[in-house]
Amino acid sequence: MNLHEYQSKRLFQEYDIPVPASVTAATPEAVAAACSWLGGTRWVVKAQVHAGGRGKAGGVVLVDSPAAAATQARHLLGSRLVTHQSGPAGLPVAILLIEEQTAIERELYLSVLVDRGARQVLFMASAAGGMDIEAVVATTPEWIILLRIHPASGLQPFHVRRLSYVLGLSGEQIEALGRLLGGLYRLFMESDATQVEINPLVVTRAGALLALDAKVNLDDNALYRHPDLEALRDSTQEDPREAAARTHELSYISLDGNIGCMVNGAGLAMATMDLVQLHGGRPANFLDVGGGATAARVAEAFTLILSDPKVRAVLVNIFGGIVRCDLIADGIMQAVRKVHTHTPVIVRLEGTNATLGLAMLAASGLAIQTARSLDEAADKAAAAAAHFEGRA
Ligand code: GDP
Ligand code: MN
Repeated sequence: MNLHEYQSKRLFQEYDIPVPASVTAATPEAVAAACSWLGGTRWVVKAQVHAGGRGKAGGVVLVDSPAAAATQARHLLGSRLVTHQSGPAGLPVAILLIEEQTAIERELYLSVLVDRGARQVLFMASAAGGMDIEAVVATTPEWIILLRIHPASGLQPFHVRRLSYVLGLSGEQIEALGRLLGGLYRLFMESDATQVEINPLVVTRAGALLALDAKVNLDDNALYRHPDLEALRDSTQEDPREAAARTHELSYISLDGNIGCMVNGAGLAMATMDLVQLHGGRPANFLDVGGGATAARVAEAFTLILSDPKVRAVLVNIFGGIVRCDLIADGIMQAVRKVHTHTPVIVRLEGTNATLGLAMLAASGLAIQTARSLDEAADKAAAAAAHFEGRA
């Protein structure tokens, strides 16, 4: 789960990570009032969306009067902001964050994430902040340094010295970075984050360190331990199908192919997607209906898959271990009747009552193709999707 910048900055404050004073606003009038309340003569108006790259996309605007701020707010509020990270449809802008402009001396990059391979906490830092960090990684990777921290030892003073050196800090700034890194490390561990990114972390003209941007990604699997953080969820920023899947406790991830996949078990789902690729198809999603798949869950999953307009064929691959394939077949038939789909459906069933399940599907009179092996099913799905794509 992602947090908005304004939510991340509140979290930063709790951990003594310095951020500019800020106010959120949802109307142009409130934006103008926020400027007056903050004081000063220049402000920055920032669209709150779950995507980076807002600056280049016009979602971060510098203004020099409350009236100009209100004008920008009128453009932004209610629009969809398209950035290089948002996808072509963009994300809705309903909240703006207003800050007094900071006089920037230098922009730095700092982030912390999990290095799964090394099983350690990974700090990434660069004196080349502010810009698109992916571009820096691609063109001048030597500008980024990686520092791995063993969770048993935690953050040590030598880590701070090392990062201070890389970031070109000196004197009191080193102490300030030490406090900031300490807070960042605690925030990362205590909130079960998968990534916390500050880009840019700025050195102000006055020489202070300030987190001008803030991005926190939380581990969905640990959210049950953080009801306060879970409450910060903004479903309007999430893929609507992924949000719907969560309410049905289906494990669903949108992908950009055209073959909808419904599988029981995450490992089998991954293998199914690999086989689809091998047969020249492209999966439209990852979907694990879970070990205890019931007819009702299958029907929900089916509706979800078909709500994706990219889907040109559906591949169902169920291994009946705990579940019975005849019950699954029943769920599939219910779902196909309910959604009246013309999308080709290919079903591979294996395990308990597979023969019965396949016979039920064959006798249903519905346009469902059956397959006994996974290879055959993947091949049929890829062919059906290609055929359907040609006609559509
Ligand atoms: P992002 O593009 O979504 O990552 O949004 P950021 O919050 O990082 O803002 C983009 C850029 O706007 C920053 O890298 C800064 O260069 C600029 N910016 C943001 N806030 C301020 C500010 O207070 N003063 C100045 N001068 N520039 C700012
Ligand atoms: Mn940024």
